[in-house]
Amino acid sequence: MLRVLRSLTVLFVLGWVPIWMPQPLGAEGVENRYADQRTQMVDIQIRGRGVDHEAVLRAMLTVPRHLFVPESVRSLAYRDRPLPIGQGQTISQPYIVALMSELLDLQPGQRVLEIGTGSGYQAAVLAAMGVAVYSIEIVPELGQQAQVALKEAGYEQVRVRVGDGFLGWPEHAPFDGIIVTCAPTRIPEPLKAQLAEGGRMVIPVGRAGVQELVLLKRIEGRIEQQKIIDVRFVPMVDEKGKSY
Ligand code: SAH
Repeated sequence: MLRVLRSLTVLFVLGWVPIWMPQPLGAEGVENRYADQRTQMVDIQIRGRGVDHEAVLRAMLTVPRHLFVPESVRSLAYRDRPLPIGQGQTISQPYIVALMSELLDLQPGQRVLEIGTGSGYQAAVLAAMGVAVYSIEIVPELGQQAQVALKEAGYEQVRVRVGDGFLGWPEHAPFDGIIVTCAPTRIPEPLKAQLAEGGRMVIPVGRAGVQELVLLKRIEGRIEQQKIIDVRFVPMVDEKGKSY
């Protein structure tokens, strides 16, 4: 007993004891922890709720969602919830990002228009699926912030523009997919007009508290419309802040 105590004292004096104490995670450890959280997010929140589109699952396993949220909420990045991103706006819940991406049913090389860049996360997920992404954000600070995050995460090919997405981006139309992540009370005509033949649009429609996610398909010139689920998004607003 005495001998054990004596050798412990020697170790302590030599300064070995502190290495038994918990060490802070290095940069690699932090990345590994986020990667584990990402795997769990995809298994439980996304695959577990029925999204089985392989390209979507792969993209969401890859994109570092924590780089798209403010540092103050970074530890919550992979939770089953939306999070604040500043300017009174939010990054969508992971499941909603997955569901909307799946509904677009995209092929690599196709072109997608996003209205409401916000954090840039949804745009990054689409870019990771190999499509060309054009994204419009009405709040200049968010548009700039998203561009920085997209670059840091390795998706600088995403084209971000500050402006009113109600009008779409006619210079790059038509689009194979249009994804709207803010809710107007009616479907903007310019967006319908910019949908390619065979293209799909996913859009939340309605007033705060009573919105539905709607899927539109352009088939032989006609637009078919289908309700998917009830959702809650921030309103689509014009440049004066008035809701559409
Ligand atoms: N897709 C985002 C979620 C964005 S929240 C993400 O992955 O993080 C919705 C965003 O739509 C907000 O940033 C809001 O400023 C923006 N928005 C609202 N009205 C808009 C409009 N008319 N045109 C473009 N963006 C708009």
